[in-house]
Amino acid sequence: MPFPNHLPIPREVLTIAETLEAAGFDTWCVGGAVRDNLLGLENKDFDLTTAARPEDVQRVFKRTIPIGVDHGTVAVLDRHRKPHEVTTFRRDVTTDGRHATVEFGVSLDEDLARRDFTINAIAHHPLKHEWRDPCDGAGDLERKLIRAVGDPTERFREDYLRILRALRFAARFGFEIELATWEAAAAHAHGLTNLSAERVRDEWFKGLETAQRPSELVELWGEVGALRVWLQELGSGERGAGPDDVRIIDGMGVRDPVLITAYLSRDPEATLRRLRCSNSEIERGAAIQRHRSRWPDPTNDVSVRHWMAEVGQAAADLVEIARLEGRDIGDGVARVRSAGPPLCLADLVVSGNELMALGIAQGPAVGDILRGLLDVVLDDPTLNTKSALLERARAMISGGPAPRSRLLSERRHKE
Ligand code: ATP
Ligand code: MG
Repeated sequence: MPFPNHLPIPREVLTIAETLEAAGFDTWCVGGAVRDNLLGLENKDFDLTTAARPEDVQRVFKRTIPIGVDHGTVAVLDRHRKPHEVTTFRRDVTTDGRHATVEFGVSLDEDLARRDFTINAIAHHPLKHEWRDPCDGAGDLERKLIRAVGDPTERFREDYLRILRALRFAARFGFEIELATWEAAAAHAHGLTNLSAERVRDEWFKGLETAQRPSELVELWGEVGALRVWLQELGSGERGAGPDDVRIIDGMGVRDPVLITAYLSRDPEATLRRLRCSNSEIERGAAIQRHRSRWPDPTNDVSVRHWMAEVGQAAADLVEIARLEGRDIGDGVARVRSAGPPLCLADLVVSGNELMALGIAQGPAVGDILRGLLDVVLDDPTLNTKSALLERARAMISGGPAPRSRLLSERRHKE
């Protein structure tokens, strides 16, 4: 692959490089943006790697943020206060599969040699327009290959996250994983247990978001043995609650990694909890699990209203799941929603206090009656008036025909 003379490096990044060079520090562009531009993909997020040590970078620039000084990374803020990462040439001294202790004062080539894949180990000098590519990353870009820099077994043992990064880049670019790299990855998948849930989750979500086809990423995670370690509820075997055919997720509208994960999992709550997702994300998963096998009749407003009342906030996720499975409930839900009917207790025009004013003692009976009234207005929203609902409430108290009132009288008998 012939290297282009120039890369579209933003003015702000050039200024940082010029400042470092003027202070006597060799400075290069590296990493994802160099790779993506060689592939013809837009990416202006150029990272800089430099001979300057973190304290030099902090001294040379007025505004910096110490992102990871121990690892040599300082963000330099440009005049718009946008951060640009500047990392000191470094070498890993000790590694334990998840963290590294690094040493500065090494050459660019040594810095490139500790990077993960050849396609990520290409450097471009933004002022001299020189290229440095000791591992033939450009050749691998042409061959469409993900290949570890140096000995793959060693590289994965240093940081098991690299296994997952290999899968992400393969699925994103439609590349093959070079055989020795693949074999080492599969042989060391057990090491993924060493990683923190946060790093695994970020890698998994980013992979799902950037893959050409998310199903391919899932398949790669399965084949390498990563599902078994971190996402066992997504593995094949006994039939899951998710799809028989993982490829169904490729039809998703907006790529939503939480939804994809929940959809594919036999136990979304457990999966999302293991990944240390937020409580609201775990709750989304739990709601999908609760509701994904009961669907409304989309042509019937009564059925749709009852369903919407039951699933609440999960409606949007469930509509998307139904659509993926070829069940179109979206129009029915949109039709009902645009009519704005009462769908929850708070939408009822009568309150618990008004029921107590009818003589119902404070306690579970109030809730039972309110739920009974909600059932009534879900069947017929025009009944959401004070007079209609108070009349129903009186009938329920005296053992009238509404279903919840029977429940209520049963409870009364027990008491
Ligand atoms: P993208 O940002 O598109 O996900 P990237 O290659 O820029 O891809 P970053 O995580 O931003 O990935 O890292 C920047 C560079 O740092 C990589 O290109 C690679 O050279 C190096 N790098 C990142 N993570 C690792 C790692 N775990 N092991 C070795 N090198 C890494
Ligand atoms: Mg990057």
